[in-house]
Amino acid sequence: MSEVLVLVDHVDGAVSKPTLELLALAGRLGEPSAVFIGPAGSASDAAARLGEYGAAKVYTVDDTEVKGYLVAPKAEVLAQLVEKTSPAAVLVVSSYEGKEIAARLAIKTKSGLITDAVDIAADGTTTQAVFAGNYSVQAKVTSGTPIVTVKPNSAAPEKSDAAGTVEEFAATISDSAKKAQIVASQPRQSSGRPELTEAAIVVSGGRGTGGDFAPVEGLADALGAAVGASRAAVDSGWMPHSFQVGQTGKTVSPQLYVANGISGAIQHRAGMQTSKTIVAVNKDEEAPIFELVDFGVVGDLHAVLPALTDKVKER
Ligand code: FAD
Repeated sequence: MSEVLVLVDHVDGAVSKPTLELLALAGRLGEPSAVFIGPAGSASDAAARLGEYGAAKVYTVDDTEVKGYLVAPKAEVLAQLVEKTSPAAVLVVSSYEGKEIAARLAIKTKSGLITDAVDIAADGTTTQAVFAGNYSVQAKVTSGTPIVTVKPNSAAPEKSDAAGTVEEFAATISDSAKKAQIVASQPRQSSGRPELTEAAIVVSGGRGTGGDFAPVEGLADALGAAVGASRAAVDSGWMPHSFQVGQTGKTVSPQLYVANGISGAIQHRAGMQTSKTIVAVNKDEEAPIFELVDFGVVGDLHAVLPALTDKVKER
């Protein structure tokens, strides 16, 4: 069975959930092999977790040569692994960084690239949601090694009994890949809430909050959810852009999405309509958001959300 390379997305060795989702998808196409680029010390914990979620092999690449630079060295590492292993496909998380790495890899390996897939079938056919989610496109790479970036929450991680083997891979990084160097980086301030694109539950607020996000945040914290926002809320300066869900914000696909004071414009839907269960609270019963919800509450969010939060806390 051919290997399927999965580039591991991690922070200081802590493997992201979307990476585990990629391993599950990779298992449909062949034998998943994770590619971990990071400090040697963090590789063993990460390798154990990757093996637990289906990586038959974990390639570890010491990042001494890689860490001070932007994406180019990572694309080189992957290109060298593609040459060594002739994989059935390479899967990368659809982040800004992931998409740039995938694009560079596609050029280096003269391969076809599909970005922002939300599903991959066993024969390599991918599904993408396009035109603000109004169309679903099935596409397949027909040239070179299929390289696919996959949106978070596109699959459920799958535990596996077999432990993966670990293999150190000595990559050679060219001088041209080192032309852009990181001069400073600051850790993001943590809200203590889950990352928006990875969260199982997202509670969002829109213009209907009137700028008071306390009821939205209260419900989110009671549910252990991430907080999202519509563009109207972001443009009003109530929430940072990193919270925006939609066409020009983030795409989320949680188990539960709760939209509060959000009308349901097509550009907002583009970022959340693949959520498994959708709930909306809106005081206008004609609001378009009610066309796509599983459960709708017609009411003032400032009254409904605190009551709901209390009920959640009681449980
Ligand atoms: P509104 O449309 O004003 O809706 C507010 C809702 O709150 C109404 O339905 C109202 O009934 C309800 N409400 C009011 N008070 C209460 C209350 N007390 N309790 C309960 N309900 C109440 N939008 C995005 O969200 N994300 C994007 O990424 C995005 N990208 C865009 C890209 C382009 C190119 C363009 C043109 C637009 C984009 N938009 C995006 C904007 C989008 O078209 C809408 O303008 C925006 O989503 C509206 O936000 P909203 O639903 O919060 O506000």
